[in-house]
Amino acid sequence: MEIQPNIDEILSGFDPSRPVGQGGMASIFMYENRLTGEQVAVKMLHSHVVNDGSTVERFFHEVQASTRLDHRNIINVLGYGDWQGKPAMVMEYVDGGDLKSLIERVDRIPTEVAAHMAFQLFKGLDYSHRLGIIHRDIKPSNLLINRDGYLKITDFGISQVSDLTRLTRSGDVLGTPAYMSPEQASGKRLDERSDIFSAGVMIYEMLSGTNPFLAENPSVTLLNII
Ligand code: ADP
Ligand code: MG
Repeated sequence: MEIQPNIDEILSGFDPSRPVGQGGMASIFMYENRLTGEQVAVKMLHSHVVNDGSTVERFFHEVQASTRLDHRNIINVLGYGDWQGKPAMVMEYVDGGDLKSLIERVDRIPTEVAAHMAFQLFKGLDYSHRLGIIHRDIKPSNLLINRDGYLKITDFGISQVSDLTRLTRSGDVLGTPAYMSPEQASGKRLDERSDIFSAGVMIYEMLSGTNPFLAENPSVTLLNII
């Protein structure tokens, strides 16, 4: 079933509140309902990709795919469409930050907490793999945690698009191949096992405090993985 663009309807009554994140191709803002105080997150593509027709088409295609995913360990997408002249999607706001900042704050995650995170990550991945959707970009900054301790996989919508962005940009975006699978690092076809490999790298990092493949130079990181 095609889901119709509904962003105007969804955001009516909401005001932008504050920026919550930045990535290679999009910015994320928190919006708040003037009356109820309800909070949502709005992800908007950066201006430099807005005029690339195939990127935009891909973005909306993938948003449609992730709208179909309904699982408590996967971010809940509420709607999408053009917002202030840019392709955008609305999703639930997650109030506990992402796993990357948690790892940076505490250095090493206690085993029980890491096990709980890993369990939830695999629950979400298993569900999405059963529906034939591979994430392709499992890494700490794409895992959100809410204050109740629920982990939510995000950045589903545009994982494929961000892979393309990575190939066409240099430096910072290419700077984090540290969670890629060997097949991904060597540009081969991926299946769901690639996500499971990335999850394994993350679990290693949560428990040991270091990424097993990370090197100063991204191409050395890729070689380490391969
Ligand atoms: P990109 O595709 O550019 O990497 P992400 O969707 O991964 O964008 O979001 C970038 C960052 O913004 C995340 O790492 C997280 O810190 C924050 N963020 C994204 N979505 C949400 C959300 N729904 N609620 C709270 N924070 C979010
Ligand atoms: Mg991301």
